[in-house]
Amino acid sequence: MDSISFDRDFDPAYGQAVRIGPHVRRMTAPNGGPFTFHGTNSYIVGHGTVAIIDPGPDDPGHIDALLRAVQGETVSHIIVTHTHRDHSMGAARLAALTGAPRYGEGPHRAARPLSIDEQTMLDASGDMDFVPDHALADGERITGRGWTLTAIATPGHAANHMAFALDEAPILFSGDHVMGWSTTIVAPPDGAMADYMASLERLAARPETIYLPGHGGPIADAPAFVRALRAHRRLREAAIVERISRGDRRIADIVAVIYRETPKVLHGAAALAVLGHLEDLVARGRISAPGGLGLEAIYEPVETD
Ligand SMILES: [Zn+2]
Repeated sequence: MDSISFDRDFDPAYGQAVRIGPHVRRMTAPNGGPFTFHGTNSYIVGHGTVAIIDPGPDDPGHIDALLRAVQGETVSHIIVTHTHRDHSMGAARLAALTGAPRYGEGPHRAARPLSIDEQTMLDASGDMDFVPDHALADGERITGRGWTLTAIATPGHAANHMAFALDEAPILFSGDHVMGWSTTIVAPPDGAMADYMASLERLAARPETIYLPGHGGPIADAPAFVRALRAHRRLREAAIVERISRGDRRIADIVAVIYRETPKVLHGAAALAVLGHLEDLVARGRISAPGGLGLEAIYEPVETD
C-alpha cells in the first residue's frame, strides 16, 4: 500500500523572490493560516518578460514586493490557477499597476447547482470579482519570451482550477490541486470529489516530475506523490463507507472518528470534505441519502450481494 508523507519543512522568506530554477522565482505572500500553510505562493516565470502565476491575496505589500522583484522587467501575463481569494484577489491590483492581461479558466463558479445555504458558503472563499481578460481553454498554450506554459484543466478543488505545465523544464504549477504539505480540500459547493479524482488521473499520465504548488515547497518526485494521494483518497473513502456500515448515520459522527487526530478548529472543513466524498459515493450508488445530501443529512449503507 502506498503511504503518503507530507513535507511541512518550508521557509517562506516573505518579501523575497526565491530562485527555484533557471526559469522560476517564487514569492510567498504573508497570508499564513490553517488552510494556506505559510501563505500563497506567487511564481514569476521567465526573465525580462515574465508571467506571474497567482498574484495571491489583495495585499498591497505583497504586490509591491513582486513588482520590486521584477524591476526592469515586463510583466506580460497575469495567470491564476483558480478563483479562491488567496490566489486571484491580487490580480486586479497587479493588472492596474502593470497593464498586463489576466488569464484564467473563467469567473468563480460552483461545481454543481446550489441550494440557498450553499450560496453563502461559496461566497466565503470564492473571489467573485475575478474576470479574466483572456479565458483559457484546456490545453491552450501561453507563450512569452523564453517560456511556454500549457493550461491543464484540473477541476476538483475548485471548478475552474487549472494547472500549468512549463515547456522548458519538467515543471508543473499545480496550484491547490496537488500540494506537498497537506491534502487538498475538496468540498462542495466549490469542489467535487469525482472531478478531483479524474484530475489526479490526468496528472498521473503526464511527464512532469517537479510540482510547484500554491502553498508550501516543491514536490520533487511528483508522479509517486500523485499515486500516494490517490491511494490516500481511496483509503479515506473506504473509512467513510466503513463508518456508515458500522452504524454512523451523520457526518459529525464520522468526522469525530476518522478525523480524531485533526485539531477541532478544522472539523468544519473536515465535515465538508466528508460531504465531498459522500456526494461522490451516493452518485456511484455505494451509499444512500434518503432525505437528500447535506451536512446534516442521514446516510445509509447500500446492501450489496
Ligand atoms: Zn489556496
